[in-house]
Amino acid sequence: MRLLTNSFARQVSVKTFRATYTPVGRNAISVVAGRKSYATVANAPLAEKLKVNGDRLWNDLHYTAHWSAPSPGGLTRLCATDYDKQARDWFRDQVLALGADYKVNATGTQFALIKGEDMSIPPIAMGSHLDSVATGGKFDGPLGVIGGLEVLRSMKEQGIKTRAPLVLINWTNEEGARFFPLLGSSIVYAGQSTVKAAHASLSNDHSGITMGSELARIGYVGDGPNTFEEFPISAHFEIHCEQASDLEKAGKPVGWVEGWQGMTWYSMEFKGEDGHANTYPMAKRKDALLGAAKVITELEKVAFENKGDSTVTNILSGPWGACNIQSNTKLSFCLMNKDGVAQEAMGQAIEKRVKDIAALHGLELEMKRDIHLLPGDFWPEAIDCVKRACGDKGIGSRTGTGHDSTMTTTLVPTAMVFVRAKDGLSHTAKEWSDKDDCTEGALALGKSVLNFDELMRTKAATV
Ligand SMILES: [Zn+2]
Repeated sequence: MRLLTNSFARQVSVKTFRATYTPVGRNAISVVAGRKSYATVANAPLAEKLKVNGDRLWNDLHYTAHWSAPSPGGLTRLCATDYDKQARDWFRDQVLALGADYKVNATGTQFALIKGEDMSIPPIAMGSHLDSVATGGKFDGPLGVIGGLEVLRSMKEQGIKTRAPLVLINWTNEEGARFFPLLGSSIVYAGQSTVKAAHASLSNDHSGITMGSELARIGYVGDGPNTFEEFPISAHFEIHCEQASDLEKAGKPVGWVEGWQGMTWYSMEFKGEDGHANTYPMAKRKDALLGAAKVITELEKVAFENKGDSTVTNILSGPWGACNIQSNTKLSFCLMNKDGVAQEAMGQAIEKRVKDIAALHGLELEMKRDIHLLPGDFWPEAIDCVKRACGDKGIGSRTGTGHDSTMTTTLVPTAMVFVRAKDGLSHTAKEWSDKDDCTEGALALGKSVLNFDELMRTKAATV
């Protein structure tokens, strides 16, 4: 593994960052947008030049999908498994071959830094994830990382050099499919969790395995950078399959993502009392699973009442046995809503109903709101870069789920490129995007990055 070079080390210097870069705040965006000199419908000159190699992207998407647990037609590459290690090793080899400065942080996230003309500027990031859910498809995540790789390869071949350095990031445990919570590394980078907490993330199979121990097992606990303060970026762009049907309905291959719906994840546990399933009187029971069943039906009602959605994602109940009253039941669930007020109302409603159910059945309750993300918008100036990159091949869209970009957007200008997904399917082996659409997505990603580089150049020249 190549060591951190001086150029990367300079990038991670907070002192350098503070001396040379003032983050563009959200308030500043409207000022920028209002200045005619920045408002343009055209792509940056370098963006107009860029081409990408759709064959290479397509081949790599399918080639890397063989690092998967048996998953006919799809992908099952859970975080920090041996399959994940194989995909990570491949990624490392590809970026080293491009001459990138390569680094792994303590939560296993891989960074590949490509030099720019001015190394005092924090790099423009492209990032997504190589991990998948169980029963996943080949596109959710890998398209973002391998699409970014395709952009870097094409830029190198075509002699396209940016003023800012670029960094390609493979974020760890985006899916939260094996370890909870999801967005397991970008949440640390955004300062909303810690390396210690991420390492302690328990596997969802209740085996007691932690993300930290599994990352160590596959050799992916590095020494940083872990946070934005250690390694600031100027912006973050991500391609992702749409996971909805708006592009398909509009007949467009790509889209610029304007924002996300609200999402809240809860985990809870009911503790009741052990007893004989056949003989103990029902009226006296403290049955944790019965309580959980009532919570599940209340979740459906709360969603309908608030024009939102809810999903129970995990349940564990015990003790096992044909003759045991269930004295311990754990549930995980999420609530989604496009409206922030309704999102809050859903949370308040379910919290009250869970408490009422606990009281009715004499159950002890522990309940935790693990992640709470209100609906929001990406940064206008980053969206504008993607919009220009998509041109008339795209439409505006919104995402219904969390991405690493929903973490980086709390820090820096962030926007996403959506790629048309067949029937809007995702997290299934049926997930599919056509080759030409993936190619358009990678091209839009590269153009977005070049548009943002040009935007920063223009702003620096006019300050
Ligand atoms: Zn994803």
